[in-house]
Amino acid sequence: MSETPQDTGHPKANPLLQPWQTPFETPPFAEIRPEHFLPAFERAFADHSAEVAAITHDPSAPDFANTITALERSGKLLAKVSAVFYDLVSANSNPAILEIDKEVSPRMARHWNPIMMNAVLFGRIALIHNNRASLGLTGEQMRLLERTYNNFYRAGAGLDETAKARRAAINERLAELGTSFSHHLLGDEQDWFMELGEGDLDGLSEAFIASARAAAEERGLAGKAIVTLSRSSVEPFLKSSSRRDLREKAFRAFTARGDNGNANDNNTTVVEILSLREEAARIMGYPTYAAYRLEDSMAKTPDAVRSLLERVWKPARARALADRDALQALVTEEGGNFSLAPWDWRYYAEKLRQVRANFDDAAIKPYLVLDHMIDAAFDCATRLFGITFTERKDVPVWHPDVRVWEVKDASGKHKALFYGDYFARSSKRSGAWMTSLRDQQKLDGEVAPLVINVCNFSKGSGSEPSLLSPDDARTLFHEFGHGLHGMMSDVTYPSLSGTSVFTDFVELPSQLYEHWQEQPQVLRQFARHYQTGEPLPDDLLQRFLAARKFNQGFATVEFVSSALIDLEFHTQPASASRDVRAFEKAELEKIGMPAEIALRHRPTQFGHIFSGDHYASGYYSYMWSEVMDADAFGAFEEAGDIFDPATAKRLLDDIYSSGGSVDPEDAYVAFRGREPEPDALLRRRGLLETPEAA
Ligand SMILES: [Zn+2]
Repeated sequence: MSETPQDTGHPKANPLLQPWQTPFETPPFAEIRPEHFLPAFERAFADHSAEVAAITHDPSAPDFANTITALERSGKLLAKVSAVFYDLVSANSNPAILEIDKEVSPRMARHWNPIMMNAVLFGRIALIHNNRASLGLTGEQMRLLERTYNNFYRAGAGLDETAKARRAAINERLAELGTSFSHHLLGDEQDWFMELGEGDLDGLSEAFIASARAAAEERGLAGKAIVTLSRSSVEPFLKSSSRRDLREKAFRAFTARGDNGNANDNNTTVVEILSLREEAARIMGYPTYAAYRLEDSMAKTPDAVRSLLERVWKPARARALADRDALQALVTEEGGNFSLAPWDWRYYAEKLRQVRANFDDAAIKPYLVLDHMIDAAFDCATRLFGITFTERKDVPVWHPDVRVWEVKDASGKHKALFYGDYFARSSKRSGAWMTSLRDQQKLDGEVAPLVINVCNFSKGSGSEPSLLSPDDARTLFHEFGHGLHGMMSDVTYPSLSGTSVFTDFVELPSQLYEHWQEQPQVLRQFARHYQTGEPLPDDLLQRFLAARKFNQGFATVEFVSSALIDLEFHTQPASASRDVRAFEKAELEKIGMPAEIALRHRPTQFGHIFSGDHYASGYYSYMWSEVMDADAFGAFEEAGDIFDPATAKRLLDDIYSSGGSVDPEDAYVAFRGREPEPDALLRRRGLLETPEAA
């Protein structure tokens, strides 16, 4: 294949088809316009198809080099164009980009289907796979062969022609449906805001009001203050606004996303997705979609997932019910003549926390300056892995708020670029994520990764810096942990790079990294008051750490209930969920969901499982990984040093740098010397202790 400009019709006009003359050959965002994408994609599809055809019809006998390695070398242009495109779709979209996305997603399925279901190509792979023991492969090569064989097999390469045709049509339709699901969600989030008049600010902190003004300005409503449906706007509002009517309004809008009966309604989309997934699983010979999906995970079966979730659910629910009674008592004590509703929980929990732990989020926020927390995340990585960070102003970005750092290893050698895109804006989808513009590999020489973190933090307004809530600070470290997984990757083959691991393993590097954020030695150094520069006072620090276990019943219930619903959607017959709302209600009744707590993600806004299939029947993954991260951090505690060099080296070698090149269970045991001990999770969440009396 070639990416040189003379190979296409109007190469000079299309920066996506030219070599990039930028620092580190990064995408020249300023030159890339929406109209460049479709021609670039068509060109990339054609190149890739030609490369795969050459491998398929290679007259030489199939071997590892001419088939498996050759596949690893194919599709470079497609990977390059896709990475830029999907970064813009999620972090800086506009109507033109979203239109193209609608066209590209089914087109992408049409491109991949004939490759992944190619019987001749699969025949070559299967032959090599059969002879694998006698090929003298390295450990990484063996893993690559297993993964490649598995991916083709699971895509349906071994099916008969009729089944293949149906499976292909299903994939294409699912791609369309996933795209419209996320467009609908973005649509509902963009359409709604609640203006706060002078009389509507009761209970809100200065920092919240400043960010509400910044959000208004971002939407062209300068001088006003608004609540938006971004989680980092709604949740602090629900926590602090003493206006019960406004809390109810915001809560209802937030939980109704995708379920408003308007053009953005996702109910029928969900029904069709579930029914097509079930059909695809049946074609593959599995009883349910969850059985099909989970076979390719650490958990392996729906029963293993259910048993973990149920083990956590019982103590979490008991804790939440005890907390509910305490919150209701607080309402009554204050003379509130009402039963606690879901829009009251966060507000009264925050009050109760002030009583019990003498701590509220607003007290710590002035000490959690975004820039200092970025420094903290970098500093921990320097201490653990010896890497350093230098900001670069010469690398093109997709939005003026994006910052870029060059990452070097201990010897000063270039290792990666890290892009941080931290602030909420209406062109960005909600949530926080890590992605990449280029992955590490060294198949044909070292390729340094370009890693991205995207968050939705509130921007400071005027001269005020952006201040983080404790949850935001944790998110920052979480996404940076994923970022390190991408940046520290040290594998040969691109498809095993960095985060290319099982979904229930991928949250280990990210969740583990959160532990450093809450260490006193880290907070003492980096949590400094944004105005005075004073370090976090010790008693506030102690109260902050003590308060972390507070309200864990609620947090665990809202998460586990979502994970259980995900599992039920994908284990019960699709016919059971034709009425999505009724299904949701029935399932919540079945598990005894406390009426005062809502799902963290109601079905019509559950992008993790419906925007694509990545986390479908996989939302439990966060908890599966938490069993490991809670246990893994113990290795540093046992060593008596949270930056213990020997433990850090094992962490780098076995977890952060090995990508998908080893089996995850083996990787964990290599690091820890044993299997994870599941009670560490319950202990960390404080769920093993008896609920405190009201
Ligand atoms: Zn994550």
